[in-house]
Amino acid sequence: MSTQKRSLLKVIVLGDSGVGKTSLMNRYVYKRFTQHYKATIGADFTTKELDIDGKSVTLQIWDTAGQERFHSLGAAFYRGADCCVLVYDVNVLKTFETLQIWHHEFLLQTNPSDPDSFPFVLLGNKLDVDGGKSRVVFEKTAREWCGSRGDMPYFETSAKEDYNVDDAFLCIARTAISNQHDEQEIYFPEIIRESNSEIEPRERCAC
Ligand code: GDP
Ligand code: MG
Repeated sequence: MSTQKRSLLKVIVLGDSGVGKTSLMNRYVYKRFTQHYKATIGADFTTKELDIDGKSVTLQIWDTAGQERFHSLGAAFYRGADCCVLVYDVNVLKTFETLQIWHHEFLLQTNPSDPDSFPFVLLGNKLDVDGGKSRVVFEKTAREWCGSRGDMPYFETSAKEDYNVDDAFLCIARTAISNQHDEQEIYFPEIIRESNSEIEPRERCAC
């Protein structure tokens, strides 16, 4: 049995409804994509285990449940985040303009000790649409936005065509590691806690 410590990193994904947050997560974790629009039901997280720079980490990626429309995600969603991923659609200007609100809201909710150095990563998604002809937000503009916010890393992605998604999440994992909390406060929804209650005693160590 491995005695290596596995770190748990909480990553939250924010951005307007329809920009492809759920699709990016599904592409990265399950290697799949669906054209059918389905609003995510119930605040949810998905985990992905990976080895990175010799460390074993579990990424816990939190996706919104469609409540992003109302900008009301609740404190549990934000609690203990190690990295915040902001997503916009390069073909829809409004989704880029709203980033400012998401960025502000995250800092308001989490109140990090040093807001200027909290790790964010920006993703400009749906790069594939119309072969790039319908694009309205250009890379230069996005990079300038990132530059004025502590040199936030930026990736242009396509969840549909699996472009840059792995690279983006690798950077997200590294960024989260750099901000890892010493004391992990891991939030599990009630339903998961209940369903795991039977196996809990076996998982506890003997001491
Ligand atoms: P969310 O509301 O931000 O979670 O967005 P979804 O992941 O549900 O995606 C909204 C719609 O955009 C769905 O119909 C997806 O199939 C589509 N979509 C997501 N990512 C891409 C992409 O990279 N390219 C294209 N062409 N469509 C995408
Ligand atoms: Mg979604």
